[in-house]
Amino acid sequence: MIQIECRNERFSYDMYHIVKSFFPDASISQISDPEQESLIHIRIAGDSCFCYPKFVIYEEEIAGLMDKREQKRYINRKLYRMLSGLTGQEHAWGDMTGVRPTKMVMEKLEEGKSDQEIIKFMKDTYEVSKKKARLGIEIAKREKAQLEKLDYENGYSLYIGIPFCPTTCSYCSFTSYPIARWEKRVDAYVDALLKEMSGIAKMSGGKKLNTIYMGGGTPTTLSAAQLERILSHLEENFPFDDLKEFTVEAGRPDSITQEKLTVLRRHPVDRISINPQTMQQRTLDAIGRRHTVEDVRKVFHLARELGFENINMDLIAGLPGEHPKDMEDTLRQIEELSPDSLTVHALAMKHGSRLTREKNQRRMEGNTEDKTENAQMARELEKMIDTAAEHAHKMGLVPYYLYRQKNIAGNFENVGYAKVDKAGIYNILIMEERQSIVAVGAGATTKIVLSEEIDAPGSRNGRKTNLIRIENVKGVEEYISRIDEMIERKGEWLWR
Ligand code: SF4
Repeated sequence: MIQIECRNERFSYDMYHIVKSFFPDASISQISDPEQESLIHIRIAGDSCFCYPKFVIYEEEIAGLMDKREQKRYINRKLYRMLSGLTGQEHAWGDMTGVRPTKMVMEKLEEGKSDQEIIKFMKDTYEVSKKKARLGIEIAKREKAQLEKLDYENGYSLYIGIPFCPTTCSYCSFTSYPIARWEKRVDAYVDALLKEMSGIAKMSGGKKLNTIYMGGGTPTTLSAAQLERILSHLEENFPFDDLKEFTVEAGRPDSITQEKLTVLRRHPVDRISINPQTMQQRTLDAIGRRHTVEDVRKVFHLARELGFENINMDLIAGLPGEHPKDMEDTLRQIEELSPDSLTVHALAMKHGSRLTREKNQRRMEGNTEDKTENAQMARELEKMIDTAAEHAHKMGLVPYYLYRQKNIAGNFENVGYAKVDKAGIYNILIMEERQSIVAVGAGATTKIVLSEEIDAPGSRNGRKTNLIRIENVKGVEEYISRIDEMIERKGEWLWR
């Protein structure tokens, strides 16, 4: 049990995530009390008493730091060092809490900073290791080269959310519903989706559509006929002249059939994702994915035979019961398939996932076996992530995008690797937040990039950008019944 008490709420977010990166399994309570004596007070408790050192910061300690960002950095650094000393863990990303390190690196590159200056800045500011700083620079340069080929400021991307899956994976916290339970409402969902797409198309007349990403959920849980309806509607309503990429996340092999892949091929879908997550059968069974390793191989070969030349595969490092040797074996099998890109995620214990709920339940029942050795877990994750990088290199794939999630032991990152000309453009756009992404479907979030010219130091190319988020409702029924409101909400901001 860890208790974080902050007098000022603006510190609590970072405090929470730094603590969580050292103790991903811990239950953390947060209290905001404007009356408390200290600015920040963190108590780390043992089983029955507060027996670990306390972390306390008083106002006077940071009074000399005028800049609020400096104050935050000072406090984050101090907490990170205390927890590092307590646990013996050093995190490769130090006390950096943001999820997009490459965005910051890109800004430094655009300011004309050299690699050495960026490495030093990341070390001095966040204690980021040289290895991770170099990875961030390598990826930011690759992203920059991709973005330079695109007139992204005058275009937009479209995300289409299909919130259904064959079953729910135990680690999942996305908007996803088992298709069998919703079978009778899927056609009504597709009707609403087409209506929302028509609304967006009408509002976006003069804009260039650069990328489309159909995700979820698992879009291929829809029938071939439903997929056909959506793809035809897209082609009839949106201009495809400036379309650079069209991805469909086929995701679960147990949802893919020849008929569905043929529908995708009839339309300009040029990138698909087939995601095994692991090639270890016992893990697939344990996490609730009702397909076999052989199914992955079969659908991959089928997609190749049907002419798909850009296939991504997703893996997760740190799935329950897996160790570095399992990852090594999974990568060996992936190498035989030779995908065009590979995305390696570090398992995040997300709120709302079955895995997290089960873990919390076991802890409440006093199951001591579940008291994970976090340091050991972090070391194994690091090994798996390094092994994935080595195999990606052997497969001719280079890192091209990176993001971090919260609640990962050791504060690790997710990295996308791709053949030189097969990088996922949508992935770069969403990470760098350079282009508006209009999202349709239940639980989908539209992100509007508002950019204005300013004359201020530190601005990017003399421009300041703000991001407006517009969320659609998550529930399928609610989405169907409130579809007009979903369209209207976006109309307020598109295209200011
Ligand atoms: S396939 Fe993806 S979206 Fe569907 S349940 Fe599994 S993790 Fe969630």
